[in-house]
Amino acid sequence: MSLIAANWKMHKTPKETEEYIKRFLEIYQPGEDREVLLCPPFTSLSVAHELLAGSDIKLGAQNCHYEKEGAFTGEISLKFLKELGCSYVIVGHSERRHLFGESDEMINRKLVACLEEGLRPILCVGETLEEREAGITFKVIENQIRLALSGIEEYTDNIDIAYEPVWAIGTGVPATPQDAVAVHRFIRDLLKTVNPEGEIGFRILYGGSVKPDNAQNFTKHREINGFLVGGASLKPESFVEIVNAF
Ligand code: PEP
Repeated sequence: MSLIAANWKMHKTPKETEEYIKRFLEIYQPGEDREVLLCPPFTSLSVAHELLAGSDIKLGAQNCHYEKEGAFTGEISLKFLKELGCSYVIVGHSERRHLFGESDEMINRKLVACLEEGLRPILCVGETLEEREAGITFKVIENQIRLALSGIEEYTDNIDIAYEPVWAIGTGVPATPQDAVAVHRFIRDLLKTVNPEGEIGFRILYGGSVKPDNAQNFTKHREINGFLVGGASLKPESFVEIVNAF
């Protein structure tokens, strides 16, 4: 089953979330073999949870803390997210890594916590432009995945991966489908090596400037099991078009 996820980042107040979801539900049609996920800001989760009740659309968070509770000012734990109806969490988004200094070790702890709490993490990985130009894309991706999965290698069926080249996020310049497919194949083989007993229960999503007019270039390829969409998910009409590309 493919997964099409909307990452709203720091956009949409609770009121704007309400308007979005009402419109989205008017124009969205559930599909047989796809799962749709909205990841609004924390402050909009409550209203989103209420409005999505009775639909098949899933709710997720954009980040989490790995402790259950305690003296962690400004942080949000998985226990809180669960109560607000979240079943997914985006972990290690490139903006968290590069703007907020999230380390591979923190990302690993977040994944461990997600598995313990029963929320499904979407682990984001991706190379910078400099790394791509230096020819070390696969090395970077392998390193990010091995460190993120350290000690939890046998749980590859309980997570999804989003391949998001940093240079493609929010730039309007997506990876070519061929480049994305090559990295997706690499990730799939790597996860099989990391967990030979696994049943390929993970999905590998592509993210980075996916728009309604380029989505179908990616969905043609069986290696691409879904999308993580930023900018183009902010309008219900364009997100629905992307969903319908699957
Ligand atoms: C993202 O935020 O994960 C993303 C891929 O953003 P955009 O679609 O805007 O490039």
